Amino acid sequence: MTHTPKKIAIIGSGLVGSLLAIYLKKFGHDITVFDRRPDIRGIKFSGRSINLAMSNRGWNALNEVGIENEIKKIAIPLDKRAMHLVGQEEYYQKYGKEGEAIWSISRGVLNKKMIDLAEAKGVKFRFEEKVWDVDLPEAKLFTGETEKGEWQEYNYDLIFGCDGAFSRVRHKMQRRSRFDYSQDFIDVGYKELTIAPNEDGTHKLNKNSFHIWPRGKFMLIAMPNLDGSFTCTLFMPFEGEVSFENITTKAEAKEFFTKYFPNIMPELENLTEDFFNHPTSAMVTMKCFPWTYWDKVALVGDSAHAVVPFYGQGMNAGFEDIFVLNDIIKKHGDDWKAIFREYEVARKENTDAIATLSYRNFVEMSTKTADPKFLLQKKIEKHFASLHPDKWIPVYSRVTFSDRPYAEALALGDAQEAIMKEVMQLDDIEEKWNSAQVEHMILGMLEE
Ligand SMILES: Cc1cc2nc3c(=O)[nH]c(=O)nc-3n(C[C@H](O)[C@H](O)[C@H](O)COP(=O)(O)OP(=O)(O)OC[C@H]3O[C@@H](n4cnc5c(N)ncnc54)[C@H](O)[C@@H]3O)c2cc1C
Repeated sequence: MTHTPKKIAIIGSGLVGSLLAIYLKKFGHDITVFDRRPDIRGIKFSGRSINLAMSNRGWNALNEVGIENEIKKIAIPLDKRAMHLVGQEEYYQKYGKEGEAIWSISRGVLNKKMIDLAEAKGVKFRFEEKVWDVDLPEAKLFTGETEKGEWQEYNYDLIFGCDGAFSRVRHKMQRRSRFDYSQDFIDVGYKELTIAPNEDGTHKLNKNSFHIWPRGKFMLIAMPNLDGSFTCTLFMPFEGEVSFENITTKAEAKEFFTKYFPNIMPELENLTEDFFNHPTSAMVTMKCFPWTYWDKVALVGDSAHAVVPFYGQGMNAGFEDIFVLNDIIKKHGDDWKAIFREYEVARKENTDAIATLSYRNFVEMSTKTADPKFLLQKKIEKHFASLHPDKWIPVYSRVTFSDRPYAEALALGDAQEAIMKEVMQLDDIEEKWNSAQVEHMILGMLEE
């Protein structure tokens, strides 16, 4: 297949934009990445900023361009959840089979590394250049200081919009007829907090765990950083009884942490400081279609599909977009119209599926974790899976530790849910949840 070198602009030097640059450069294209922000490599930060969980799909995409091992050096494997329930000792839940783990990685550290790697391969970066407008049919873009000020015009053969959930490139596509678009904010916000390292630089909590303090309508999670600290995220409703709106003084914040998170009390001062110093951010599911314009412009990553973060898959899904796009480019060579068409069709149903799964996880975490029926159902599923690991793969594992399509994980998960709905109707299920009768019932339904 021929791959005639093209002049390509990528808007956004985030995780997706910088990885896409590395991929496209391999085909010999001339790549320039624009970002409205300053070069992240010049920004001093401690490495305690937001961290992300990288799983199979992300690693696959990094592996394809030979940078998986390099990135693993700056990540920490987490092979289990550490559950912190009220009034109970901390306990652990293994994520999957032996050797299966998700990896905690600092977003900032990862982004710096990827920009370095892209630059080393010859990708050009133009920081502090905000794209205000795109001429879609001509693949032209316009940057400048302000929206009303003077703009600089650039001409390209192709433009990729990797400019995140509130994409300017998508915004331009939205103005066309028959462009589908939806955006749904949830009523829960999040805030980043930090648990500092011990004085000797070690971690205060178990280092190889994803820590969760589920509290019904709100929850705290924590992931480790390389410097011994943990980055925590507090997810809580914006309004209501226990909410961001209702914690307005240091005394109220201290009362909140003391009441709900007693086992991290030594961190009380830190947490309270962070609570007022760090912003409260919103979360959104965004879907749209089409993702491409002729053979000129394509959206990749959050600009095409933003999901709420309760499955830890947003970046992983964006990286998988690139992995899939790469295979399609190899297949169609110079036929960018065919490439873009196949790409958007291949990805759309899968990113819709991960949006659904991510939203369901949010609902599950916020409304069902205190429901005894729900907990019993999860107990039965776990028991059955331990007896028949080949017959009952949890949806979480299908999403996190496999590279099968998200849409397949969703469909198989729905089929499991339908089975469990019937099982839960059995009389006295509370007593016979681990009986042979239940086991055979599930086996029978799986064969239907
Ligand atoms: C709280 C939280 C936790 C998360 N946890 C996980 C997780 O554990 N695992 C996971 O896989 N995903 C996670 N995600 C999702 C993940 O952060 C995103 O999916 C990922 O960052 C998307 O990358 P992106 O490059 O597409 O967009 P972004 O990271 O948003 O990057 C967009 C880039 O475009 C630039 N830009 C925007 N507009 C313009 C413009 N007009 N001109 C020039 N440049 C522009 C921006 O400056 C930015 O650099 C989480 C998200 C949140 C909010």
